[in-house]
Amino acid sequence: MAAAESEKCKFLIVGGGIAGVTCAEQLASQFPSDEIILLTASPLIKAVTNFKQVSKVLEDFDVEEQPHSFLEERNPNVRVIQSAVKALAADQHTVCTEDGRRYVYEKLCICAGARPKLITHGNPHVLGIRDTDSAQVFQKRLSSARRIAVVGNGGIALELVYEIEGCEVIWAVKDKAMGNTFFDAGAAHFLVPQLESAKPKAPAICKRTKYSTEACFVLGPEHQEQSAAERGELGSALGPDWHEGIKLKGTKEVSHKVHFEYQCEISQIYQQEEFTKLMKTPLAFPEHGSDQTESTADKELWPVYIQLTNGKTYGCDFIVSATGVIPNTEPFVRGNNLEVAEDCGLKVNEHMCTSEPDIYAAGDVCTTAWEPSSLWQQMRLWTQARQMGWYAAKCMAADTLGQSIEMDFCFELFAHITKFFNHKVVLLGKYNAQGLGRDHELLLRCTKGHEYVKVVMQRGRMMGAVLIGDTDLEETFENLILNQMDLSAYGEDLLNPNIDIEDYFD
Ligand code: FAD
Repeated sequence: MAAAESEKCKFLIVGGGIAGVTCAEQLASQFPSDEIILLTASPLIKAVTNFKQVSKVLEDFDVEEQPHSFLEERNPNVRVIQSAVKALAADQHTVCTEDGRRYVYEKLCICAGARPKLITHGNPHVLGIRDTDSAQVFQKRLSSARRIAVVGNGGIALELVYEIEGCEVIWAVKDKAMGNTFFDAGAAHFLVPQLESAKPKAPAICKRTKYSTEACFVLGPEHQEQSAAERGELGSALGPDWHEGIKLKGTKEVSHKVHFEYQCEISQIYQQEEFTKLMKTPLAFPEHGSDQTESTADKELWPVYIQLTNGKTYGCDFIVSATGVIPNTEPFVRGNNLEVAEDCGLKVNEHMCTSEPDIYAAGDVCTTAWEPSSLWQQMRLWTQARQMGWYAAKCMAADTLGQSIEMDFCFELFAHITKFFNHKVVLLGKYNAQGLGRDHELLLRCTKGHEYVKVVMQRGRMMGAVLIGDTDLEETFENLILNQMDLSAYGEDLLNPNIDIEDYFD
């Protein structure tokens, strides 16, 4: 490639999601006289606005999808270039993009996000939801659907199943309870009734994230050309409240109609023609929720059929695969010595450095390979993408200036605020007793339909908590977890609603 087509820069960031944008903004403010180049495959970037530090580690912010000019206007020394990275030559400190340009960097931060891990590839009846485009494809398909199947048990599946109306949903969950990534069986049990009641018209809890996409969400048959998602382009991940503004409604006049199939996965997917030849009998949608003991044969014809590992077969219009994500590492690992973790993320050390010199990574694309604090774990979440992008920029700056840097405080304690089924949900520390073995006990307080409080204790110390509803306990519990005070003397009074525990510990 001709040398004239190369461009040199001090800092190069790949990815216009929360991690990349935060990293670029932080570097821009620390190095106002240097140009920061941000390469991204997507036409819009994600900007963090209204950032609020709720407590020591809990944070709250809005996220807006914006054109590139938004970032450039906020930070005059940031230049955004829309072109996907095709190859990286780590030994030459060079990145090549799809449009044939070369960028020679001093320091590179890879923030390329992740994409849905589909249960099968190339099947037109299986959809994944990742970005605005794939959410539109889903919404378009749902508008003519009578029944869909959802596979997966993480946050996306939870939100999706709650938001869908006017369509039967068969939800195949590999665990004993729904939402295993976030909850235990008790919390799941608290939330399940919400799936059986009509959704409230207006959200009871204020939403955290807003999207201002220019695209039209209600697509008619006249808009049938392939979307970016259908073409497999790399958009940035949606986040909390991704469904806001999207009408998730099927063809039926029902509110929620969800049937759970626990402890099973899809073992086989059949197209209609293939299935009819097999002469198998699919099951009708079980009328009263949960377990179907009396099998009724389904006489309707469906575009696709799923066979579950528990032997049951159902027909549906399409399948949503919400079974986690795979980091977008391909163009970066090819030909380089970048170490990749078991979950396919780029391994980063406590300074967000990959195994190649001058290459950092942050957000969904990376896997933390340092020894974490006993109260923190990596989860591919919005808040962690922002924190890692910010901290990676601080590390890049410190390395450039020859300074030392301490690990940021946000990695001391896992903290996440979200909303499931219209309830505020706060997760702190080892909220699901992750890695604590049998040596822990749980304290519970639950008022049906109102609040669910679970505390994970180990040898008298609070290790984690799940707070559902407006409990107002997050700050006190955050402090109790962080200071690791011995709480044995308080016993179950810790959760006694008649005792104001804030007074005890403030
Ligand atoms: P992304 O936002 O995915 O951005 C990656 C960027 O890299 C994009 O701009 C992309 O175009 C670009 N890119 C990729 N490959 C290349 C390449 N080769 N060259 C150039 N650019 C490239 N998190 C929460 O905390 N709470 C939630 O409620 C929540 N809900 C979610 C719901 C959905 C449907 C989804 C999909 C995710 C949700 N998440 C949620 C997760 C959260 O959105 C992600 O963790 C977060 O957005 C990751 O940010 P990121 O910057 O690392 O990656």
